Amino acid sequence: MIVLKFGGSSVADAACMRQVAELAKAALPKAPLIVLSAMGKTTNGLFAAAKAAEAGNLEAALEQQALLVTAHRKAAMDLLGETLPEELDRALTELFGELELLLRGVALLKELSPRSMDAIASLGERLSTRIFAAFVGGTWVDARTVLRTDNVFGEATPQQEAIRILSTQHLKPLVHADRIVVTQGYIGATEEGHTTTLGRGGSDYSAALFGAALGAKEVQIWTDVEGVLTCDPRIVPEALPITELSFAEAAELAAFGAKVLHPATIQPAVEARIPVTVRHTQKPDGRFTTISAEVSTGRPITALASRGPITVLTVSSTRMLAQSGFLARLFEVFGRRGVSVDLIATAEVSVSLTVEADVPLKPLIQELSAFAKVEVHEGRAIIAAVGERLKSTPGLGALLLGALGDINVEMISMGGNEINLSIVVKVESTNEALRRLHRVLVGGIS
Ligand code: ADP
Ligand code: ASP
Ligand code: MG
Repeated sequence: MIVLKFGGSSVADAACMRQVAELAKAALPKAPLIVLSAMGKTTNGLFAAAKAAEAGNLEAALEQQALLVTAHRKAAMDLLGETLPEELDRALTELFGELELLLRGVALLKELSPRSMDAIASLGERLSTRIFAAFVGGTWVDARTVLRTDNVFGEATPQQEAIRILSTQHLKPLVHADRIVVTQGYIGATEEGHTTTLGRGGSDYSAALFGAALGAKEVQIWTDVEGVLTCDPRIVPEALPITELSFAEAAELAAFGAKVLHPATIQPAVEARIPVTVRHTQKPDGRFTTISAEVSTGRPITALASRGPITVLTVSSTRMLAQSGFLARLFEVFGRRGVSVDLIATAEVSVSLTVEADVPLKPLIQELSAFAKVEVHEGRAIIAAVGERLKSTPGLGALLLGALGDINVEMISMGGNEINLSIVVKVESTNEALRRLHRVLVGGIS
């Protein structure tokens, strides 16, 4: 079997869904499982509605809901005719009824817990898959019966062994070469049956999890670009499609901001050694990227990615950094507070490290201040250059710094796995830095 995952832009309206139906039908001989995202920007709309309700603005929340009802009903009617099949009509009414109840509850309490947010966010994928399954006459599967997670709402961790067992029970018997089976990306459920989500963009991750659980031959990520490109095309329009990527390169790019793949997608595929391809829904015969364990690209620099804003913390020892135990003490604080650190650079008396912009800084700094001096630099971005021969290609560092010209580099870090060279710049310099680096490093070498 194979897994085909279609992102939000691929199912944005009826015309897009028709195209997806063609691709799903063409994949029938390979026994496809179709994993869908919410239509277009539906998830953003659901978040906006939930936030409005939390602020006590029920009217605005219900206005958002009305927009979603109109868009979904319009798509369904474009696909299936003015009079919707009874089963679909009922399903849509029930789902929107559920959304309204949730929004009213949130507005009443003026409280939006991560658990309530997940219940609301799950509606997008549940709606899109209902409409699509009705259109293709396929089998609709509720991902929450299979995709078991822990209870960290908003960013749940999948429980892969449970998913494998549940998929074998509930999903495997349905997946055949003669029917289209449709399920949701992004959403899952705890053992108690509470709805969870895998974090924004999580449908890619779902696809890889289903693929690994079912022993898929391939996981296809269908999106709005011809595969993984050498940089985000919205920033660098001359970015080029990459034909082959190693798992390691893809994982680094995703982790450092290449939005085309959710950062966790690669891990289940690596473990099950399933190739992941990234393809353009509107150009199915065009170029695409294959990510697999077999690939060894040997390029000095394959692609660039960026992530920001992030915050840089420079921690100086009030005594000596080299004093044994200082770093252990420092990272114990981060570990205990569940704050993950991305880049680290050390000097004799200080350590610079980067953390996400939304980390609660005050208590962290308060605790660190007991044994160190902390400087905070907000509004920074990480730019990562990723390539398998990065470390063994002489002169790359000079080329990189030279390409940046007058853009100030505040931190440099060569990743432990030798395929990632990251720098930190001011967030407002990110796009210009990417363009300059792409021109010299990617355009020039590969
Ligand atoms: P989907 O809705 O299909 O999941 P996303 O918007 O999440 O699509 O991801 C696709 C987008 O990722 C592209 O439109 C592109 O703007 C962006 N992107 C960022 N970096 C890259 C890259 N290196 N290669 C391709 N696309 C990238
Ligand atoms: N619909 C979800 C989101 O917008 C998940 C996804 O599209 O992958 O984040
Ligand atoms: Mg995505």
